[in-house]
Amino acid sequence: MAPRVLIIGASVGGATAAITLRGLGIETVMIEKELSRAKPCGGAIPPAAFREFDLPTHLIDRKVKHCVIISPSGQETSVPVAGSVPTDDDYVAMVRREIFDGYLRERAQERGADLIHAQLTNLDVSASGVRARYRSMSDGSEHTINADVVIGADGSYSPTSKLLGLPALPRAIAIQERIALPASQMARWEDRADIYLGQEVSPDLYAWAFPKQDHIAIGIGAGPGHTQRAKELLINLKRRLGPALNGGRVILREAHALPMEPRKQMAFDRAMLIGDAAGLVVHTSGEGIYWAMKSGELAAQVLGQHLDVPTAQNLRAYERKWWKQYGTMYQFLRILQWWGYGNERQMEVFTEMCRNPDVQRLTFDSYMHKTMVPAPWAVQMRMTWDIMRAQVRNYARRRTPLRITEALRH
Ligand SMILES: Cc1cc2nc3c(=O)[nH]c(=O)nc-3n(C[C@H](O)[C@H](O)[C@H](O)COP(=O)(O)OP(=O)(O)OC[C@H]3O[C@@H](n4cnc5c(N)ncnc54)[C@H](O)[C@@H]3O)c2cc1C
Repeated sequence: MAPRVLIIGASVGGATAAITLRGLGIETVMIEKELSRAKPCGGAIPPAAFREFDLPTHLIDRKVKHCVIISPSGQETSVPVAGSVPTDDDYVAMVRREIFDGYLRERAQERGADLIHAQLTNLDVSASGVRARYRSMSDGSEHTINADVVIGADGSYSPTSKLLGLPALPRAIAIQERIALPASQMARWEDRADIYLGQEVSPDLYAWAFPKQDHIAIGIGAGPGHTQRAKELLINLKRRLGPALNGGRVILREAHALPMEPRKQMAFDRAMLIGDAAGLVVHTSGEGIYWAMKSGELAAQVLGQHLDVPTAQNLRAYERKWWKQYGTMYQFLRILQWWGYGNERQMEVFTEMCRNPDVQRLTFDSYMHKTMVPAPWAVQMRMTWDIMRAQVRNYARRRTPLRITEALRH
């Protein structure tokens, strides 16, 4: 029997959409070309994902409790991972995508979704339905499958979007090395992650060191216009990490693109786009896993209501709901990236700003719980004052490298 919904890509977004559709009793097939290699990714996920999608915590390699931000001049700000109401369950989860994605895919299959190990090669969406061509990854044979609706969950290069005739989105590149370290070296990253700022490691995003169970994942992001320099930026990051990587052995090098703009339209007649295919990575943090899962869930819920009349007009309810709920957060994080990563002096200001306890709490409220609660006016005044002082300090004076540790925070 033809499935009602065909999902292209069975990574975090596609698998979550499949799980939600199966919860509504809808026949679903996923087509995925890559089942063995991990999606290149830092694997940092907010606890909200575990709560909202009822995920087991054994998927977590490490719970990060401090994020250390290191400015171009070497200033350090250690930010405790805690929201306005601190709990024992405040953390940034570090996962390995090969394990995390595999779990979600299996869950989708257990709930009755079918998985075809194949690559989408053609797509025809007409008034009467969807017709897709795919090439089996096991024997190269070509097949056709029909469905009522297609969901493009196929990432930043999104062949689905291309076959729907949509333009490519502007993309950043992110490259990462996973480095196995002796236990004594891993101790530094027991429950900490590092964020590095500076033109020589990332002109417009950031570089990171994220701890996994037995290795560290270090990587850089580079926006459009800087992608040619990606390898050089990674070498510079390794130089900055210096002795922290002593005794390390590279176990994996990986790279992939990140969309830098959301699509203006995410739903069409008989077709929807989610996650990276819809450009739903947020600015400043480059976070996309939670958003891919959330958009997969919402798209599937809306589709469940309109499956018998899947017109663009009906399916675009997904888009409207999405921007109503998250529009402010996306806007805020876009402005923050433009403001905080614009040049090296701003990166210094950004690092200092993160020392303000109100900024810290608001940052982790929004990251961990995905809520943006407006701060009381007195808090806003305090934050503005601190930011203005940091602006003046970093622009009026000569830049002097200073090293400020956690002990000197407010
Ligand atoms: C180096 C790097 C580090 C990152 N770090 C983080 C992080 O720490 N935290 C975070 O939240 N986000 C991070 N991101 C972003 C995050 O990885 C993505 O936003 C997220 O994976 C998007 O999920 P998705 O399901 O939309 O797409 P993807 O995870 O990209 O999955 C798309 C799937 O579609 C499949 N596919 C593609 N074409 C076809 C085809 N023709 N036929 C069949 N299948 C196809 C692919 O094989 C893939 O499995 C990072 C990204 C990069 C590149």
